[in-house]
Amino acid sequence: MNISQPGLFGNQWCDAPWRLVQETITGIQSLKSDVDFMLWTGDTVPHVDSGHLSTDLNKELVRNITELMKSTFPTMPIYATFGNHDYHPKHVFPPYNNEIYNATYLIWKSWINDTSQDANFLKGGYYTVLTASGIRIVAMNSNMYYVKDTATVNLEDPADQFAWLDSVLTNASTNNEKVILTGHVPPGFTTPRAVRWMTEAFNKKFIEIVLRHSSVIVAMHFGHEHHDSYRLFYNQEGTAVVSLFLAPSVTPWRFQLADGEIEPPHNPGARLVKYDRQTGKQLDIQQYYADLNKANADKKLIWSLGYNATDLYGIQDITPKSMGNLLDKMTSATNKDFKAYVNWYNTNANTSDKFPCDDACFKKMTCGVRHLDEDSFSKCLTAVSGSVSLLTFSVYSVFYAMLFVAIYKLFN
Ligand SMILES: [Zn+2]
Repeated sequence: MNISQPGLFGNQWCDAPWRLVQETITGIQSLKSDVDFMLWTGDTVPHVDSGHLSTDLNKELVRNITELMKSTFPTMPIYATFGNHDYHPKHVFPPYNNEIYNATYLIWKSWINDTSQDANFLKGGYYTVLTASGIRIVAMNSNMYYVKDTATVNLEDPADQFAWLDSVLTNASTNNEKVILTGHVPPGFTTPRAVRWMTEAFNKKFIEIVLRHSSVIVAMHFGHEHHDSYRLFYNQEGTAVVSLFLAPSVTPWRFQLADGEIEPPHNPGARLVKYDRQTGKQLDIQQYYADLNKANADKKLIWSLGYNATDLYGIQDITPKSMGNLLDKMTSATNKDFKAYVNWYNTNANTSDKFPCDDACFKKMTCGVRHLDEDSFSKCLTAVSGSVSLLTFSVYSVFYAMLFVAIYKLFN
């Protein structure tokens, strides 16, 4: 779409202008002073055709934001991962060393701060680090499992990342560590579109590894979808054992799909996650957002608290058990918890084409939270409505989790 007046802070038909990026980074800095670390979940490069970009331009875009993050948060460890748009051409992350892995490692290695991870990053763009409080961060390049990555689609284990993940999680268990898994493209299905991002084989393998090691994984924080949502991994006994949180994006850009379908609008978002330093237990999410239309009208961007997850949903914390209880409470499209979930799925975007989630949409959304694999998700969608119930930082501290997208220099 051609936007002649995108607004000072951008537009829902465009990626983030530099001004929005800058005011997001400085805005979140003022939210809380003592934050342990930040997760930055990729897609720094805009959602445009690869013909408008190049390897050099992609490198420059990632470098610009990295420098801004370093100058704003000089002492904070930031654990960054690639998004599918960060490679050139987009999506096609290779399972071997290349210029983009090399250039990015040079600017991110001071955050990773562990030379034992050089080989992993240079080979596949993944790494693991232990935070100061002893929580293990496992940062994946899950873009290699994306259905659009033609460089990896026929491989069993691109860049040996699955074997590495399995061994890192096994060692974490041996060492009594707790793990936060972070990355960009998530396993499971985006809903209500009901689209699986990963190939069926990669999705299945990823789920198997997560379930095998569920006792050490305290949470997964991913991006890619721009909307605020979550998924649960259930074990064979039907117990929710791992939560996967999808952070809403900073970019206001709404997906425009090849078939003409357009995803609902959303506001820029960034979140603080409260956790227990000793156990890694995930306690709460404070979701912040900026009302983009108001910011453009007032020529001033304000970051406001949207919700505390525990208050909004009446849950004790954000552990898999509590997030499973929340899913069980969401029994219909008119249920108040479900309506709150749908409102924040859009990061409270107050526009006329706000996402109307009817019964069919409700079914897809709740099936997507509960079922990450192809077979059970398909069964859930085709189940008769009578079975909907089936579908249906201590010194606590906090860390930032956010999906950052794009400085498009056209708007400089
Ligand atoms: Zn993405």
